Amino acid sequence: FNVYGAPVIGRHGNWLGIIVVLHDITKLIQLEEVRKDFVANVSHELRTPITSIKGFTETLLDGAMNEPAILEDFLGIIQKESDRLHLLIDDLLELSGIEREGFYLQYDAVNISNVIDDAMKIISGSLEKKGMQVVLQGESQIEVEADKDRLIQVMVNLLSNAVNYSKEGTTITIVTSFTVDEAIIEVKDEGIGIKPAELPRLFERFYRVDRARSRESGGTGLGLAIVKHLIEAHGGKVAVESIIEVGTTFTITLPKESA
Ligand code: ADP
Repeated sequence: FNVYGAPVIGRHGNWLGIIVVLHDITKLIQLEEVRKDFVANVSHELRTPITSIKGFTETLLDGAMNEPAILEDFLGIIQKESDRLHLLIDDLLELSGIEREGFYLQYDAVNISNVIDDAMKIISGSLEKKGMQVVLQGESQIEVEADKDRLIQVMVNLLSNAVNYSKEGTTITIVTSFTVDEAIIEVKDEGIGIKPAELPRLFERFYRVDRARSRESGGTGLGLAIVKHLIEAHGGKVAVESIIEVGTTFTITLPKESA
């Protein structure tokens, strides 16, 4: 609490009492904590690839580049870490853009099947690499008023996670359905699953169950935060259910018409 006090003096200069104003600043302090955590997280996430790029470049310049095998190996690492930085900066800009006031969606009549098709094209390379397949079930003709590119991005983020956190050769199932006023998209995988205790924090920026695994698969820890923001900007909701070693289902509920 912020506390302000002021005496109340009567007309004849007599002391009548004191007014105390208690201002609840819990929310402000929480916001400040979130901001500090965010800055610390961003700094850490940026520093890791930069340290690696710097280290490998210095080693090369110190003479290691005369060995062709080492040269190729190190350049490969430098390229991977640069790609990582690029992705991280793109995701950060994306998230800050969505959170900024004045962010608006480009509403159009959008067919959910087209969104899924476009997203699948984007992730087809990583699907193939892991010998995985996507099975589509449910209604194929659902139309919503939405920002198509943003919905594609949501699907790409969910599908990439389904690929990254699943074993080779497993199947991802996308189930689409609708009610009178909502469209529902479920993305189910047969992956590693998530412990119940981890579920509530999953959509926080930079929250990862397994940092090393996320890093290894090129994750930034921002994918689900972006999904949540984009779906909520549409007036929708996103939910998750998971059983460890069995699989995870993300469910998106979208209003058919924009508010
Ligand atoms: P990342 O870039 O690390 O994948 P996300 O925000 O997309 O970041 O996801 C946050 C964390 O949630 C991931 O690091 C991972 O631990 C967990 N996660 C997300 N999707 C899945 C999934 N389909 N199966 C298992 N774990 C998942």
